[in-house]
Amino acid sequence: MSDSQLFDPDCRACPRLATFLDQVKADYPDYYARPVPPFGVADPALLIVGLAPGMHGANATGRPFTGDHAGILLYETLYQYGFSTAAESLSSDDGLKLIDCRITNAVKCLPPQNKPVGAEINTCNTYLTHELYSLYEGSIVLALGSIAHNSVIKALGLRQKSHPFGHNRLHEFDNGLRLLDSYHCSRYNTQTRRLTTEMFQAVFARARDLIDAG
Ligand code: SF4
Repeated sequence: MSDSQLFDPDCRACPRLATFLDQVKADYPDYYARPVPPFGVADPALLIVGLAPGMHGANATGRPFTGDHAGILLYETLYQYGFSTAAESLSSDDGLKLIDCRITNAVKCLPPQNKPVGAEINTCNTYLTHELYSLYEGSIVLALGSIAHNSVIKALGLRQKSHPFGHNRLHEFDNGLRLLDSYHCSRYNTQTRRLTTEMFQAVFARARDLIDAG
C-alpha cells in the first residue's frame, strides 16, 4: 500500500474545507493549515482515531491533538500507559515519539466550527479505510467520540446498527481488529465531567491489557 493511499498532504478533495484552509492560512500565516498527517509509528498496536484538527491545535501545529486543550489529557494518558516518550506534546518538532501507537483523524482538514459535513467525513473515509487495513491482526483501534466510531465502522464496511457507540465498549471483528470507544477528550466533555480523567484512564488501561495479552 502506498503512503499516498494513507495520506495526501496536498489533498483538496473537499472543496469547502480546502477553501476554508486557504482563508485560515491567509488569516494565520504561521499556522500549518493543511491536511494534518497521522502521527506515530507505521505498524501500531494502538491506532487512536479522533474527529478532525482543531483550529488552534493540530491545524496550527501540524500534529494531531497538539496545541489545544483536547491534547493535554490524551498525551498525559498515552505516557502513563507506556505509549509515548513524554507526557506533553508541544510542537511537531519537540522530539516526542509514540510507542506502538499512532494518532489519526477521521477528517484530516480543519472544518469550520469543528463540524465536518457528512460528505466530507465520507470523502476522507478513503484514507481511514486504507489506514485501518494496513493494521495487523489484533490491533486496537480507539475511537474518540461517536463520529470517529462511525467512521471506523463505515471504513470497515460494517453496519452501524450492529455496532453502536458506547464509552469503554469493545467491538471485536472477524478480520481480527478490535475497536474500543471513548468519549472524546474535548474541553467540553472534560469540563462538564462527561469524561473524567479516571474514565479516560480506564479505557487506556483496557487497551494496554488487551495489547499485552496479545
Ligand atoms: S478532509 Fe480528507 S478528503 Fe477532505 S480535503 Fe482534507 S484530506 Fe482530503
